[in-house]
Amino acid sequence: MLRFLVSVLLSLSFPASAADSGDGNGAVIRVAIARNTPRFTLKTSNRVYAIEIRTGQKYMLLENSSYEIRYIDPSRLALAGTTLESPVKLLSSDGGEKVKLNGRFYKGDIFIKTAPVEKLEVIEQLSIEDYLCGVLGVEMSPDWPLEALKAQAVASRTYALKNINPKKDYDLTDGAEMQVYSGAAAVNSRIIKAVNSTRGEVLTYKRKLITAFFHACCGGHTTSAGAAWSGASIKPLAGVRDPFCSNSRHFRWDFYITARDLLAFIQKRGSTALKIKGVRIYKKDRSGRARTLRFTTDAGSVTVPASDLRKRFGASDIRSTFITRVTRAGGGYKFKGKGWGHGVGMCQDGARQMALNGKNYKRILKHYYPGAAIDDVK
Ligand SMILES: [Zn+2]
Repeated sequence: MLRFLVSVLLSLSFPASAADSGDGNGAVIRVAIARNTPRFTLKTSNRVYAIEIRTGQKYMLLENSSYEIRYIDPSRLALAGTTLESPVKLLSSDGGEKVKLNGRFYKGDIFIKTAPVEKLEVIEQLSIEDYLCGVLGVEMSPDWPLEALKAQAVASRTYALKNINPKKDYDLTDGAEMQVYSGAAAVNSRIIKAVNSTRGEVLTYKRKLITAFFHACCGGHTTSAGAAWSGASIKPLAGVRDPFCSNSRHFRWDFYITARDLLAFIQKRGSTALKIKGVRIYKKDRSGRARTLRFTTDAGSVTVPASDLRKRFGASDIRSTFITRVTRAGGGYKFKGKGWGHGVGMCQDGARQMALNGKNYKRILKHYYPGAAIDDVK
């Protein structure tokens, strides 16, 4: 149900600065919970006020209602048909959850602003600890062992703080390209305990925050950040052998690709081949992951980064670049591999097993980020 806005003329002033929010406990993080969209619908759970930040003009959104928000031009947006100046802040009347967006509840401070190329951004600004509560339930599972959840809390806190960038509109996105965040919905008491009992703890190396990458399952050996993405790797992100994840259901995978799809893949990369004669693993990194694959064809051989194959055929199907075997099967090729994810930093399934073996979160973190110190954030 769409409702029209009620303009409420109150002489409240709202600072234009984004720094007026947070609970006063530590860092504030800005997460893009929607972006690259010219319009979206948000649902209110409480009565919410929409405030034009520059003018302080305030509009009331009723509880349990739907509102369509649309881009108009670089400085204006429409909220249920009413034109508002961008940016707009949403303020809950009782301090509770404010809005539901794409089926998820958010209770931080919500900012809606216009972005280039006729798009809108919705940015939630909240304390790092509230943010972590929304990360843990989806990056791990609320029923995982507490010490694994605590290790994840420290890694995710470090990763988030490392990404704070005042020059950008937001610090983090909410998808798997960074760390998955799902708002206030997936939080339970175990997650709150994991976050609170590690409050302020971060991973550092030579007194600097590390980019504390993590992934679902390493397949027996984590890899270096340099091998995964290029560049140099610091010691905590150089890769370690992992004996803990071998029972994971993600430890092995296989995926079949037809010769026709593979041919189209290399043709798109400039090959004039009309027939693939063979596919093999060409170069490996120190962890055993495939760096490159070599296709033998009727028009010579073609070498392709394994990461490009993963991008093209999907990170949920080619689950890692830890490809161990390529065999001819039927009219195509079967790829066998190990692990799920980029393989850098903490292996979540290994962390779970270490916790089940009675190891505490500090031991887990020291295993996956060797040489890193666990410090209190300043
Ligand atoms: Zn592992």
